[in-house]
Amino acid sequence: MSSMHPNRAKWEAIVWLLAFATIYGAAMFFNGHEVLDALFRAYEDYNLDEIFTALNIAGGLGLIYSVLRIKDMSREIQLRVTAEKNVDWIACHDPLTELPNRRLLEVALSNSEALSQKDGSAIFSIDLDGFKKVNDLLGHEHGDRVLKVVAERLCSVFPDDNVYRLGGDEFVVLVERKGNQNLSNLGKRMVGAISKPIAIDGATVEIGASIGFARIPEDGKIPAEVIQHSDCAMYAAKKTGRNIVKGFAPEMQEELIKKIQMEADLKLAMKQGKIRPYYQPLVDLKTQEVVGYEALARWEREPGKFVSPCEFIPLAENAGLIVELTDQLFRIACQDALSWPPHTVLSFNISPVQLSDQLLGLRLLKVLGEVGLPVHRLELEVTESALINDAETARHVLDDLVKSGIKIALDDFGTGYSSLSQLSNYQFNKIKIDRSFVASFEECDRQEKIVRAIIALGIGLGVKITAEGIEDASQLRRLQDLGCDIGQGYLLGKPRPIEETLAISERQIA
Ligand code: C2E
Ligand code: CA
Ligand code: CA
Repeated sequence: MSSMHPNRAKWEAIVWLLAFATIYGAAMFFNGHEVLDALFRAYEDYNLDEIFTALNIAGGLGLIYSVLRIKDMSREIQLRVTAEKNVDWIACHDPLTELPNRRLLEVALSNSEALSQKDGSAIFSIDLDGFKKVNDLLGHEHGDRVLKVVAERLCSVFPDDNVYRLGGDEFVVLVERKGNQNLSNLGKRMVGAISKPIAIDGATVEIGASIGFARIPEDGKIPAEVIQHSDCAMYAAKKTGRNIVKGFAPEMQEELIKKIQMEADLKLAMKQGKIRPYYQPLVDLKTQEVVGYEALARWEREPGKFVSPCEFIPLAENAGLIVELTDQLFRIACQDALSWPPHTVLSFNISPVQLSDQLLGLRLLKVLGEVGLPVHRLELEVTESALINDAETARHVLDDLVKSGIKIALDDFGTGYSSLSQLSNYQFNKIKIDRSFVASFEECDRQEKIVRAIIALGIGLGVKITAEGIEDASQLRRLQDLGCDIGQGYLLGKPRPIEETLAISERQIA
């Protein structure tokens, strides 16, 4: 491609035309034609007239060629300018939703006006709740459609160019605070817009949003700081629950730093294999035999100092580490289970989040196959509340597990407010009465009635009942009298590392 600028080419053409006109004028004035004629005649032998005609034609063709080239060139330049504009656009926009991206947000925030508005402005960080589930369950195409709808809805609330997508399911809205605008209410309007049902291919998807906001200039004067603070408020909102709006407060930052540190520590601990299962015996209350062990995750963060699974399991869920952590723990637990007597069952906890993982069954079966533990020796513990949150999906995943021969225990029974009709949709092999009932059923008549009813329900359904949290002998006796099948608790054995479980498995209770 020629590097000549079209304007220059134009100027050159004009100069050439002027030169031509001058020569033509001079030729007319001095009767050039007659002079040339005389010259051609004088040198007839050299065919000067033919040479002159040929030169004229070549000149004419050259002129046409130049005009065409100039046209080509300007077309090429136009294309180049458009391409450069496209590249600029792509660099500053999200191609899916066509919203401006972080780069433009930073530019908008660095713009001195935005940061020093008389009435100030505010930045809202929005993170969708339940988006990952849509992506995992319905596929990325549906996920993309949801993101587009969210972008459209936010733009309909804020018609200006103030909605940004920072990637994933994170959006940002930059607003001017006109007068005493109530920012929490504004956030709630965004939640309202986002959480309306979204129809995709006949299915209705409902997502929520966790929203945090930071005020400019009160909560930050530099772009990076303001964004970080509104993100921080958003994390605090997300931690509180679904569809929550929170304004930034300095103490949130400490919590976030702690959370980020803990997340990094958790990742490292997983990498170093420092999270291991401990095993708590499940004892047959009739034969007093150990019939299985529940694997309970233990993280020894510092020697002798354990982080509770109630703390790090939700952290792993939120950080997207739960699948990997479960895989790690499950593999170890299956290997350890090989060293127990062959009738002993491995009872393994499944996080509610994983009940939306359609590959869960396959993943578990793969590990069982690789380790060589027969499928009938596995039992998965699923909490009652996990089934209530997303009953439809959970049923599909559980049905698949049951079909592949895996047993299911309904954990923490009595705490999830499930209805019996809901429970009749699932096939359980076991129900575990929550330890809060066992802890108080001796003192509280009502609790005892519930325990009695659950045991009767188990008999009716042909499902075994386990009582958790048995701490003293009188609780044990009472449960045995009521006909409870299996017991678990500190009295029967605390969760212990694998080295100590073998001794317990040979122990018989009194
Ligand atoms: P959970 O499944 O209900 O597990 C029983 C909890 O009760 C365990 O707490 C166990 O140590 C405790 N426990 C057992 N016997 C007694 C007793 O006699 N008295 C009292 N007060 N407590 C008793 P832990 O190990 O702290 O686990 C807490 C929860 O963390 C578990 O509740 C389970 O929901 C979750 N969890 C533990 N390990 C895993 C895991 O590997 N994966 C998943 N997804 N969740 C896990
Ligand atoms: Ca459990
Ligand atoms: Ca439990």
